[in-house]
Amino acid sequence: MAELVRQITHRGVAHSPGTPTLELRDVSVAYAAGTNGVTTTRGDAYALQHISFQVGRGERIAVVGPNGAGKSTLFKLIVGTLQPSQGQVNIFGHGPDGHICIAYVPQRSQIDWSFPVTVEDVVMMGRVGRIGFFRWPRRHDWALVHQALARVNAMHLAKKQIGELSGGQQQRVFIARALAQEAELLLLDEPLTGLDVPSQEAIFTVLDNLRPDGVTVLVATHDLNMAAERFDRVMLLNRQVVGFGGATAVLAPDNLLLAYGGHMHRLQDGDLLLTDTCCEGHEG
Ligand code: ADP
Ligand code: MG
Repeated sequence: MAELVRQITHRGVAHSPGTPTLELRDVSVAYAAGTNGVTTTRGDAYALQHISFQVGRGERIAVVGPNGAGKSTLFKLIVGTLQPSQGQVNIFGHGPDGHICIAYVPQRSQIDWSFPVTVEDVVMMGRVGRIGFFRWPRRHDWALVHQALARVNAMHLAKKQIGELSGGQQQRVFIARALAQEAELLLLDEPLTGLDVPSQEAIFTVLDNLRPDGVTVLVATHDLNMAAERFDRVMLLNRQVVGFGGATAVLAPDNLLLAYGGHMHRLQDGDLLLTDTCCEGHEG
């Protein structure tokens, strides 16, 4: 009962002034054997180990690394659906629990697209944290939902079922939900996978339009060129942070060989060839 009251009355966590948008301090995570998504403090097979970094307001970060590098695990830690085995995750100076400023779009394969819900209802779900449970959306909330849809060029899709949309349209709708939520930290897990170039461009246009709002964006992606060209900083991950900073330094050959191991081959002319089986088990 106390938890229910907390959820109804609690509208987010106050942000501590002067703290980074996101900070991880020496975070390690091990999944408990035979469980789905439960972590353990006794594991020796770490999905992530000794992760420390900070991200500031409005930064756009690409998180890259091979399959199984821990990209999705990292996002689940930040959003708070997974507990670190060790270390601390802070958003504006406080743990992830209770923040309504974080919006997270999981990998496509983890969403049930057959769920019967319209696009505008999906976007309205972003308002629940602001409105509170057991209250009806007001005119102001619907206005924000429609503004958010307009900003991602999806107003014409408002009454459609979410399952009817193309992959790129679905990603834009989820970004609209983050806008309606007035999110300050947006995590997109492989939003570009399986999309054609125009759909990818449409997503970048939407992300560019978020810049004036100071929204911090983390995007997990397999596309190293995209990471290098379209983001402020790149994090190269393989259970540990192999590099984090400007693309040229982080995606240097030695780092890539370290992160991608046997999937990265040095060619005679010095170029690197990546043979990562990018999307195994994923859709698209
Ligand atoms: P990525 O998103 O970079 O492909 P993940 O975060 O999905 O990587 O996975 C990192 C590691 O954690 C992998 O070795 C994976 O097998 C393991 N893992 C991920 N989810 C679970 C889970 N629910 N239970 C046990 N192990 C998991
Ligand atoms: Mg993943």
